[in-house]
Amino acid sequence: MLKKLVAVLLVFLAVCPASFGWGHEGHQIIGTVAEDHLDETTKVMIQSLLGNSHLYSIASWADDVRRERPDTKAWHYVDIPMGGKYDASRDCALPDSCVVLKINDFLKVLTDKNAKRDQRAEALKFIVHFVGDIHQPLHAVGEAKGGNGVRVRFLGDDRCGRYECNLHGVWDTSIILHTALNRQEYGQHLEELIRSQKLDSEDGGTPEQWANESQRLARAAWVQDGANLDENYYQKEIKLVDRQMALAGLRLAKLLNDSIGKMTPRDFASARQPNVPAQISPAPPAQAVGEASSLIGMGNRRF
Ligand SMILES: [Zn+2]
Repeated sequence: MLKKLVAVLLVFLAVCPASFGWGHEGHQIIGTVAEDHLDETTKVMIQSLLGNSHLYSIASWADDVRRERPDTKAWHYVDIPMGGKYDASRDCALPDSCVVLKINDFLKVLTDKNAKRDQRAEALKFIVHFVGDIHQPLHAVGEAKGGNGVRVRFLGDDRCGRYECNLHGVWDTSIILHTALNRQEYGQHLEELIRSQKLDSEDGGTPEQWANESQRLARAAWVQDGANLDENYYQKEIKLVDRQMALAGLRLAKLLNDSIGKMTPRDFASARQPNVPAQISPAPPAQAVGEASSLIGMGNRRF
């Protein structure tokens, strides 16, 4: 009986609409884009922390640990009032606990040669996730819990998967799934977008600027409770979703290239724990690491 209950709970958790950031798919796509834009030195540094794991494969880790580490919940978003500008003392749900501050905090840990390797690996995983989250427009507004409280229909259906649709969940997952692209196809699609729109000229900025930008986009994408998000809404907003994921990938790569990519191996190695050899091995060829080619639950699913 207990086993059955646990199984039911696990299924529930697996299909529960993501209300805390792009869904797994979005985060994996962002990780994929970022990897394509990493410098060689940055790749070596990342490998020394994550082994052969790809950025896309650890990109949702911060959501996976959210339930067992409730103190991290408020780190995924920032509650900027609609039409306002980021103010840390007002917009962070708990003191020092919002996505803007956490990206900066974990960047300090990641580049701290006196921090332990485990701490730095964890900091990297949080950064990869939070740079994604901060580019999801509804993660930057406090209104109706970032749109979680706005019930909608998506393409005529009030069910998104097994649950009632809400605006936040549609942005996290439904719009992305409706493309029916797998992770690799989506990555290629965004690379073409980056080229055609010259998005790499916009790869800079600070977490605070990214949050303000997201807030503005959320305002434009906002709908009233009970709205039907039709094909027109999808066609308009998918362009924004794609652009935000592409920018998140580019900015994540630049953040890492400009930080750990500029460190010397000696500085990096000094952070390693005593039982780990200090020498950093060269990065393996791209085809040797990882093999997952499609997104969990993505396939040709549409709803
Ligand atoms: Zn998140």
